[in-house]
Amino acid sequence: MSASGSVSRPASLLVIFGATGDLAGRMLLPSLYGLHRDGLLATDFRCLGTARSDLDTGAFRDQVRQHLEKRVPVADRDTDSVARFLDRLEYQAADVADSQSATALTERIKALRTGDVLYHLSTAPRFYAPICAVLGAARLAGAGTRVMLEKPIGHDLASAVAINDGVTATFDESRVFRVDHYLGKEGVQNLLALRFGNALFEPLWNARHIEQVQITVAETIGVEGRGDYYDHSGASRDMLQNHLLQLVCLTAMEPPSQFDPSAVRNEKLKVLRSLRPIEVADIPNNSVAGQYTAGAVDGVAVPGYRDELGRASNTETYIALRAHVDNWRWSGVPFYLRTGKRMARRATEIYLQFRAVPHSIFANSGAAVEPNALIISLQPEERIELRLMHKTPGLDRNGLKLAQVALDLETSDAFKQARRRLAYERLYLDAIEGNGTLFVRRDETETAWQWIDGILDGWQKLGISPKSYPAGTFGPSSAVALTERHGHSWRE
Ligand code: NAD
Repeated sequence: MSASGSVSRPASLLVIFGATGDLAGRMLLPSLYGLHRDGLLATDFRCLGTARSDLDTGAFRDQVRQHLEKRVPVADRDTDSVARFLDRLEYQAADVADSQSATALTERIKALRTGDVLYHLSTAPRFYAPICAVLGAARLAGAGTRVMLEKPIGHDLASAVAINDGVTATFDESRVFRVDHYLGKEGVQNLLALRFGNALFEPLWNARHIEQVQITVAETIGVEGRGDYYDHSGASRDMLQNHLLQLVCLTAMEPPSQFDPSAVRNEKLKVLRSLRPIEVADIPNNSVAGQYTAGAVDGVAVPGYRDELGRASNTETYIALRAHVDNWRWSGVPFYLRTGKRMARRATEIYLQFRAVPHSIFANSGAAVEPNALIISLQPEERIELRLMHKTPGLDRNGLKLAQVALDLETSDAFKQARRRLAYERLYLDAIEGNGTLFVRRDETETAWQWIDGILDGWQKLGISPKSYPAGTFGPSSAVALTERHGHSWRE
């Protein structure tokens, strides 16, 4: 392994399984185009799309051209570079369940292969093991090949283990790249830069100085036609097990010795292993499940979850937890986690509230001193805000007046010149180069599932069904009690 954490030479062939799917059209191919346009793909780099759809290469290229026209801003594409990008693309129709078409596919891969190969499985996860088996049987899965997997890796621990066993029967773990696209976001990586590139925060980043942590992933959208998938999943499996717990890891982890795949992922794993299981007896006071009913989001009336789905359902579209990371650094600090659909505003943010000053010298003049807070917003815009107490200007004959003000670093202003990149640009570049730092290791996925399974089993044992909340709010009223009972309030 090189110092950059790469396991091998850059791949010269990317094979996308599920290349006609929604994710490929919206994210994968536009991201690959971004890398092409910026000269980050080698001259001999090719991409072979494969899916069940009966297309030839010409029709696939036309389809991709339309996706690019829809997805890539005009300023970021030009006819010439699009044409040269489309020339890199090939297509082979194949149904993984049909051995004849699978053979045609493996022959095509052999014909196109000039060096290392990256396979990206962007199909339903039940195909992951069969696809790997086909590649293995065709001797296309040995040294110099690696595989990238989309979420969800399973539905619970047992199914995650089955998928991982199926994939690692062909590709050893060092060649498996599990995607959590949050890790490809600039803002998420910037959390590491903020913590470990500055001397200022780390000495305060612990239970002695931090009173509480809140991590919110709030969406304003509903299930948007993905109802059947979502109803089997719910907020805990769709968002908490992966994206939200990855944010917990990056917020809570110890400094890794280096920014490399093993060091970073070892530290993240320690956080997941330190998450205190939420036992059945703790469930009522430490977890809240919700489901939205009709309401209004941004002034527009929207239907409830069951109406969108077209049937009754007990699936949670909201989950809030009071969690603990049981180690020296975080002993006693609550981590309030919440994610939901049809919330009042779209926000992904990490909020760290520092402890109050030990003694306020302004108490006699009646000035309240509020605790400092650091807010790291990842969506809708990237922004870092440090809340400090400040004197309100004036002569203050009756004593100083104070107000909380924000030291605000809006990164889109600070780095105006930089193009806002799609998360998959970072992820593709790293996977092509064989660097797994921003991908999820098997033990992380399975440890996260184990923790989530404990909560979902507890809900089942106690017969907990989601409390309703009107669309356009921040969840059921019991979520307020989850924090207030401990003297804390959600940031809204
Ligand atoms: P999709 O249903 O839009 O596309 C599925 C693709 O798989 C199509 O290209 C289809 O032709 C192909 N396919 C289906 N059956 C096949 C078979 N038997 N043999 C060969 N190919 C077959 O799905 P999607 O939304 O693009 O999602 C793809 C993967 O990405 C899934 O694992 C999904 O969970 C994951 N994912 C999707 C999104 C998203 O926003 N769409 C987000 C996160 C993760």
